[in-house]
Amino acid sequence: MQLVRGYDLKTAILTIDDIASENTPAIVDHLNEKGIQAIMFAWGERTERYFDNALYAISHGMIAGNHSYSHPFFSKLTFEECRAEIERCEEVLDRLYASAGEERRYRPFRFPYGDKGGANKAALQMYLQERGFDKLDDTLICYRNTYDNR
Ligand SMILES: [Zn+2]
Repeated sequence: MQLVRGYDLKTAILTIDDIASENTPAIVDHLNEKGIQAIMFAWGERTERYFDNALYAISHGMIAGNHSYSHPFFSKLTFEECRAEIERCEEVLDRLYASAGEERRYRPFRFPYGDKGGANKAALQMYLQERGFDKLDDTLICYRNTYDNR
């Protein structure tokens, strides 16, 4: 679809990693001032610690995605540990959306550091697909530590 006549502009999705923190409401206010909705990938442990701030994000138009519970390198974990990281974060996000009185319509997952699980990569992809996570193309994202999709 051509959004701007005569130009082949692409649609961009803004994603922000590692919510929640003490700065989350200020970031949300700034985005709202600009009329921008973002997907915020939640670190479960931090979301529990700054639950009200995460709640603020959801109730002000932001979408929360799963970014694991404690933000580990997945290639250093067993498959079961990886699964537990994802499920524990899901529980926090379900609680978050329930508290906000909002339905979770979109469930993206992003690996911490872009580390896709090393030896468990294929099994994890299968699990994420079967579990019904939404796929968000992250192939063009440059991670700060350039972890090269392990
Ligand atoms: Zn992260």
